[in-house]
Amino acid sequence: MKGKIVKGIAGFYYVHVVESGVYECKAKGIFRKEKIKPLVGDNVEIDVINESEKTGNITEILPRKNELIRPAVANIDQALIVFAVTSPKPHLNLLDRFLIMMESKSIPVTLCFNKKDLADEKEWELLKETYEACGYPVIFTSAAKEENIDQVRKILEGKTTALAGPSGVGKSSLINLLDPNANMETGEISRKIERGRHTTRHSELFSIGGETYIMDTPGFGSLYVNDFEKEDLKDYFREFRPYEGSCRFQGCSHIHEPGCEVKEALSEGFIPKSRYENYLEMYRELEQKKRY
Ligand code: GDP
Ligand code: ZN
Repeated sequence: MKGKIVKGIAGFYYVHVVESGVYECKAKGIFRKEKIKPLVGDNVEIDVINESEKTGNITEILPRKNELIRPAVANIDQALIVFAVTSPKPHLNLLDRFLIMMESKSIPVTLCFNKKDLADEKEWELLKETYEACGYPVIFTSAAKEENIDQVRKILEGKTTALAGPSGVGKSSLINLLDPNANMETGEISRKIERGRHTTRHSELFSIGGETYIMDTPGFGSLYVNDFEKEDLKDYFREFRPYEGSCRFQGCSHIHEPGCEVKEALSEGFIPKSRYENYLEMYRELEQKKRY
């Protein structure tokens, strides 16, 4: 049978098979044969050992589409980043850091701003403009009023999605609406994330019907950029791309060089100011890192 690893604890892997539920599996032989460790998110073949006890053995790991290290997970199709339009006010620096991380792994992102019932359209127009200018799909939802939940459902359908966002923005509330069986207490994801800071975190996927899976992404509150060189940072700001080819200097950092078309686009309002400021901040951090 084919299934997907949704959880791994102490040598056991929990494999979700769409038609028949979750099997507790060992991965005997896999390590020796393929020399790879199964990851949450892996699509696998299993042999059922005992159907009524729901136990089995993983016999094969199917080829991976991608693999993240932190959190350790395979085959993520996309990320859904959830912030609130207000309460808490969106922390754009954190949001941009997350986008950079995903961009560096070539994982597509959709932005979801929840709690649209708490603000009027004028207040979120800037959010929409800013991120659409960078080429990200942006949706606005209200879990409380059950508005635009179908848009979220459509985005998730049939995919494995890393769900990320600070606590209190409504992630658990959204999941509960998407899957009546999820029964997630509000705040549950955030509590798990809290705990994760102190103990070893186990990534976990949960199925919200069929082959639609969500993974909550731990450690979101403490994201810092350190995985790449400062020279590469600009590549992850999509909105720079149409302009940087015309900069006077090849390899322009878009900071102090003359004849910089990115800075020109910024002054003309084609590149959002907050994004450029966050670029500068992250660039300086990466520069600092180098000095240690
Ligand atoms: P999480 O920490 O991201 O999982 O957020 P929760 O789902 O626990 O929600 C945090 C708080 O915001 C709870 O009190 C929810 O009732 C409330 N909340 C969630 N979604 C909405 C929304 O769309 N509008 C309003 N007004 N409140 C919401
Ligand atoms: Zn430039």
